[in-house]
Amino acid sequence: MDDFLKQALELARAQASVRVMTEEEITAFVTRVANSLRAMASGEEATMESVAPVASEDVKKSVKEKSVTCLECGKSFKILTKRHLAQHGLTTEEYRAKYGMKKGTALVCKSLQRERRKKMAEMQLWERRRKASYKKV
Ligand SMILES: [Zn+2]
Repeated sequence: MDDFLKQALELARAQASVRVMTEEEITAFVTRVANSLRAMASGEEATMESVAPVASEDVKKSVKEKSVTCLECGKSFKILTKRHLAQHGLTTEEYRAKYGMKKGTALVCKSLQRERRKKMAEMQLWERRRKASYKKV
């Protein structure tokens, strides 16, 4: 048990001695107090985390195997194009920033992403072979 929880428990005991509390009330009280004590102790970091942008789970879920969902209007596409995002008054960069996506996140469904990666890998392989054969000459 950490110190915050101990402090919270002591406060809860003090509360319970003044008025009758149900078990749920005590539990809720302890949790709430322990959390706020923890938040106070860790200072700004805790508050920064609590105001993190949109649930990233939704963002992750928006890119599926066969489709990518526009988080603005909920429509699904194979590729979320600049032209579509422009309809919402957003650029690709602004869209990513708004939903807390990493820079360079592909707004493309997974199966197409894989295809692209495969093609890129093939091209690189071909480049390497070409360069290697140049050296021989
Ligand atoms: Zn849209």
